[in-house]
Amino acid sequence: MTDETGRRRSNNLILDTALLDFYAAADDMHLSEGLISILSYPERRVDVSVPVEMDDGTVKVFHGHRVQHSTALGPSKGGIRYAMDVTGQECEGLAMLMTWKCSLAGIPYGGGKGGICCDPTAMSRKEKEKMSRTYGARIAPIIGRWSDVPAPDMYTGGQEMVWIMDTICKMLGHFEPAMLTGKPIDYWGAPGRTEATGRGLAACAFELMRQKGLDPSKMKAAVQGFGNVGSYTAKILNDAGVTIVAISDTTGTYYNPKGINVAKAFEYMNTNPGKRGRKLEGFEKEGCEKLGLDDVLFVDCDFLCPCALQGTINKDTAPKIKAKYIVEGANSPTTTEAEPILDDAGVIVVPDFLANAGGVVGSYFEWAQNLQGWTWSEDTYNKRLVELMTNNFLKVWQYSNDKKVTMRRAAYIAAIKRVSDIVELRGVYL
Ligand code: NAD
Repeated sequence: MTDETGRRRSNNLILDTALLDFYAAADDMHLSEGLISILSYPERRVDVSVPVEMDDGTVKVFHGHRVQHSTALGPSKGGIRYAMDVTGQECEGLAMLMTWKCSLAGIPYGGGKGGICCDPTAMSRKEKEKMSRTYGARIAPIIGRWSDVPAPDMYTGGQEMVWIMDTICKMLGHFEPAMLTGKPIDYWGAPGRTEATGRGLAACAFELMRQKGLDPSKMKAAVQGFGNVGSYTAKILNDAGVTIVAISDTTGTYYNPKGINVAKAFEYMNTNPGKRGRKLEGFEKEGCEKLGLDDVLFVDCDFLCPCALQGTINKDTAPKIKAKYIVEGANSPTTTEAEPILDDAGVIVVPDFLANAGGVVGSYFEWAQNLQGWTWSEDTYNKRLVELMTNNFLKVWQYSNDKKVTMRRAAYIAAIKRVSDIVELRGVYL
């Protein structure tokens, strides 16, 4: 499907949004129509059927996909998700975003994404194992350390990666740990990966404070979502002296203007398994006030870190935000309509694909270690991560200030430029 100018469009919201964001930045940088056209399509998309003999003896056929948007900079990199809304086009949109994220992060990867349309919460472990192994076998021809390196995503983790890798290694007849990342630490994984996204996010926040001459010990922050990204972001900011005035999860917002005891929140969550995962339910008993679900966005603070889900900062919530700085942990937490509202209010937004790239940078470190057959210390991993994230932040910060554009636009332009320059250098017959 194309628009009246012949540019590609889609009925899938994620793909269409990715295309429109790309066109806006590409037009700003006067990218040629040829390059725009090349980069608006994935290089390769493989759709597979995944038959599984279910526990009750019936056979169910699931639909899986793997998309390689670009391999201009190196092997494509991106997660594999298990969810009911997974479609080939959704994977195409997410793979395109991975191309920009890897490019901006300065790592030698293109963008990929994959997934299976299924409800993993309604499947047994055995059913998920059979599904993962068959999916792995069917995408095996395009997976490899120098071609396409998957990782966990929604509802997948170390276990799914091991099933997929084990299957492909058996087909190949040799061991190849660098074919995917996000493996358990004791099985060619990387110490430091669990905290990597939060650490990268905090590194961006600290550099922003340095650039603005702000003292971390005088800063207040609110963090939406207390899962992997949110909890480590809160902890690392807090360890450096930032007062965390509010945290939240699906059970509500927990607020204390004098500061939440983040270490206690960690401990509380780890000993309080909720219905689906760990929850902060009841944490108000630990000396804070319980507020509504979205109130975390509106509390009085300097920094707001949305680390839960997409679209939480929208045209209704944006006008009520008091924070002057937003560092995005979740993917697409800010809608297109909310952006000008924040911009007009002078809020500086560090965009998701810059701020939450610690995860993919950490994956790159795991891959690099696997290729070397050598495990770095956690300290080395953390130092390299912070250095890389800080440099990436500064690159975008500088460009945004020089060209007087938002950090999101600056990030898009920097990311697209690196890829389009290499496509031109290599020629169109990639
Ligand atoms: P997670 O499942 O570990 O945590 C999500 C948290 O958000 C949970 O605490 C959950 O209770 C909370 N939450 C969900 N809906 C909420 C709502 N409406 N209000 C308040 N809290 C809510 O997930 P995660 O790995 O921390 O990922 C969070 C976001 O960051 C996602 O958008 C993900 O795509 C993105 N992201 C994650 C990584 C990573 O390495 N984990 C990397 C890049 C981007």
